[in-house]
Amino acid sequence: MYLKSIEVHGFKSFANKIVFDFHNGITGIVGPNGSGKSNVADAVRWVLGEQSAKQLRGASMQDIIFAGTENRKPLSYAYVAITLDNSDHKLAVDFAEVTVARRVYRSGESEYLLNGNPCRLKDVNELFYDTGIGKEGYSIIGQGQIEKILNGKPEERRELFDEAAGIVKFKRRKAAAQKKLADERENLVRVNDILSELE
Ligand code: ATP
Repeated sequence: MYLKSIEVHGFKSFANKIVFDFHNGITGIVGPNGSGKSNVADAVRWVLGEQSAKQLRGASMQDIIFAGTENRKPLSYAYVAITLDNSDHKLAVDFAEVTVARRVYRSGESEYLLNGNPCRLKDVNELFYDTGIGKEGYSIIGQGQIEKILNGKPEERRELFDEAAGIVKFKRRKAAAQKKLADERENLVRVNDILSELE
């Protein structure tokens, strides 16, 4: 599995639709300070479901929509799509190519798309569990993040190892099952209360 392309339109400094195509080997993005290099990584983080404006170096989520310049009007939406080659089927779907897209409008409306079909953030998250690619994965290392990892709490560092070891999805499923069990126990107590009232 590898990242084949990133399409951005209206995201941060990318007013025009731009497609970055990646080929074998290492790709470097170079440019003067403030030209938008980090915005490319932000776009990937965002399409993978980042909910924190701070993580995207903004004050609010609206800040990710192209805000306009002296010569250009602001845009009303931001769109990012990443396409991954999945011919090795590392992502547990039948498709040999997977495109994840996210769009947000100034009105606050937003949507995620998986190969063109609307989906939930939960679907995007689950698709990338244990691949290292999710928004909390280790495949995007932002500026200052190495220091954060080295100085972080052992539990935070453990999360990275869990992801690399491929056990995150089991931990998440266990937590969901435990929550369901706790809810059912509560329901049972309530049913027993009602029963004893009736007796
Ligand atoms: P450096 O080399 O200093 O780290 P960089 O090339 O990584 O810089 P970025 O931080 O990616 O640059 O981009 C910053 C630029 O993006 C700034 O010029 C800023 O004005 C622009 N920018 C950020 N958000 C928006 C937005 N919503 N609308 C328009 N431009 C934006």
